[in-house]
Amino acid sequence: DTPPVEAPGEAPTASLQDLGGLSEVLRELREQVELPLKRPDLLQKLGLEPTRGVLLVGPPGTGKTLTARALAEELGVSYIALVGPEVIGKYYGEAEARLRGVFEKAAKSAPCIVFIDEIDSLAPDRAKVEGEVEKRLVAQLLSLMDGFAKSQGVIVLAATNRPDHLDPALRRPGRFDREVQFRVPDRDGRLEILQIQTRAMPLQNVDLGAIADLSVGLVGADLKALCQKAAYLALRRQVPSLSAPVPADLHITQADFLQAAQEIRPSVLRSVEVES
Ligand code: ATP
Repeated sequence: DTPPVEAPGEAPTASLQDLGGLSEVLRELREQVELPLKRPDLLQKLGLEPTRGVLLVGPPGTGKTLTARALAEELGVSYIALVGPEVIGKYYGEAEARLRGVFEKAAKSAPCIVFIDEIDSLAPDRAKVEGEVEKRLVAQLLSLMDGFAKSQGVIVLAATNRPDHLDPALRRPGRFDREVQFRVPDRDGRLEILQIQTRAMPLQNVDLGAIADLSVGLVGADLKALCQKAAYLALRRQVPSLSAPVPADLHITQADFLQAAQEIRPSVLRSVEVES
């Protein structure tokens, strides 16, 4: 059973150019992350505490994972990612051992960004959970964060869509004391994401602005699904069988996008809908 951890230094494949509608978020995040990772000596000279943890708060599919990865790539630092629920193992002490392993690895491969997706599953509010396992895990995470005080050049970015479910001790100074909000994109954000997601697509007279107008409530992951759906609709229309050659003028039209837009529901709504 291998831990859900990537080898430190493994080249991330995401780029900041692949992110739409997040310029403000990226500016903020960069400010908090770049100096402590690259010039901890400067901060020390100024008597400043380096950032150790930043919470990335926002609904699923808004680009938190992609951002963490792309930022590591952009800054040229190591990247280790883990997903909260996957860390929790079947055996007593397994999760603690995994977490400790990750933090040790990160310290060795500094400068390093550690990304923890769905941190609420690892560090739920201890006042509200019954299980001893959960309580122990929160305590472990806190002590690992505190242990960082000695090591330099490691920052933990942790994603959650339920910041109020987190143990309050996690938010104290020297732990996750910074927060960046990933919001559902506005019209301009949606347009930027649509442009990114269709970069490699053969569009024919497609008005992405009009699609951005009518896709209120869709997040990045939804918009990606919309673009892919439009491409499949075009394929079905223009390629009658899999043995047919690629048509020279294979293209995607506005009608494909309009139909796709009708079929994609905002994932933010989907999570609160009841099955009928
Ligand atoms: P989760 O909380 O479910 O992990 P997330 O916020 O981390 O979601 P990602 O996993 O990064 O979201 O997004 C899923 C995919 O949707 C990305 O790989 C990317 O292709 C696309 N996507 C999401 N947000 C954006 C964005 N702002 N710009 C461009 N593409 C995006």
